[in-house]
Amino acid sequence: MGDERLKQELFYMVKLASKYDFSSMEVVEGILRLENEREILGSVFGKRFKARIFDIAAGQQTDEKCVICGQPADNHVICNHCMETIGGSEYAKNQIKIKENDSSKKKLDVNIKKVLQIVLIVCLIAISLIQIWIMALYLSIPDYNPIEKPRNSAFEVTPVSSEDEAYNQIILDFPVEENYTVTFARTDTEFVGRFDLDIGDCCLEVEEELTDEQRYDYFFTEDVYVFYISYLEEHTGKLGIAEINSDGEIILLGSFNDGRRTDSFYKFR
Ligand SMILES: [Zn+2]
Repeated sequence: MGDERLKQELFYMVKLASKYDFSSMEVVEGILRLENEREILGSVFGKRFKARIFDIAAGQQTDEKCVICGQPADNHVICNHCMETIGGSEYAKNQIKIKENDSSKKKLDVNIKKVLQIVLIVCLIAISLIQIWIMALYLSIPDYNPIEKPRNSAFEVTPVSSEDEAYNQIILDFPVEENYTVTFARTDTEFVGRFDLDIGDCCLEVEEELTDEQRYDYFFTEDVYVFYISYLEEHTGKLGIAEINSDGEIILLGSFNDGRRTDSFYKFR
């Protein structure tokens, strides 16, 4: 058996003897069970120690001599001299130091963990702030295609009898100064009923609801002037078609009425 191993064994016995009351069978059984797993007490001293503490727990008479040196022992196991000599040895001091180092290392570990946690929390907060900043930037981007309210003509119905008169009526609502371009397309025919709708009504929606009798009147045709309208700016483009009948009533199709159907005529004037 190596010297180091024996020192470890003796120190272990002293520790047990200073810590536990061997008159309790529970305590001794616990120590012996642990010993079966770890097998520390293998020397002649260890074997004597195990037998002694078992005898004490079982209530048997012992010779009350130190299991290490054979001198009388007050605690029935290890004499005071051996307790002091082994407990105060260099080996024992080193063991205690190692234990202390272990616990201070654990304390350091706990501190490092706390610092890491704080760093993690700071990072998460920073990420959240960056997200909020990006959202704020996004919300501050100008809206290049704002939703507009459906528009109706601001002008009175005025009869027209020529292409020029028709053009002059259309450009009242879509003036060149406001970047509109109105171009005559053709004369054509359109349903009479569409010009009889209320201002703002969608022709298609109304036509779907018509009774047979109403259809009879509605789908006659009349001559109209047809104009293309365009509006182009850097970030916005609007296109449409305006039709005006001889009474000066106008229906309008296209992207002038955001939020509405751009593929259907609306009664405009
Ligand atoms: Zn002794």
